[in-house]
Amino acid sequence: MLRDRVLFDCQACGACCCNTAKNIALDHRGYIEVLPSDVMFMRRPDLMCALTVIDDVGVHQMRLEGPEQRCTSLKGELGENVTCSIYRWRPEGCRQVTAGDEECLKARKSMRARHDNVPEEPDEDSL
Ligand code: SF4
Ligand code: SF4
Repeated sequence: MLRDRVLFDCQACGACCCNTAKNIALDHRGYIEVLPSDVMFMRRPDLMCALTVIDDVGVHQMRLEGPEQRCTSLKGELGENVTCSIYRWRPEGCRQVTAGDEECLKARKSMRARHDNVPEEPDEDSL
């Protein structure tokens, strides 16, 4: 679909790799869980050690950084040019967001409230 190709270029976005404005307001820093069933958990203890923290209830979470609380594995400039540095090993939760789906739209909206690099999605008719 043209709309998807034009608007939802994940390598020029990164919104879903950052904690949400709502979570930040509530001081919830657990955004991306890494579960025992995740390939990184099973096969990359080095990455688990370097990139995750353990929350209050013992769950591994991707470490978040900076004012946007972006995942530590997200490299590049938000809204311009980003990449996941552990794409092959990324947690299952990351694999479930699809460009243009409900979670994607929510993440983009949340990020737009804090960052002016994520553009509004225009109406289908305007493309
Ligand atoms: S919020 Fe949507 S467009 Fe942006 S990186 Fe995530 S899936 Fe891709
Ligand atoms: S692990 Fe990769 S895909 Fe998942 S939130 Fe971090 S940067 Fe994004």
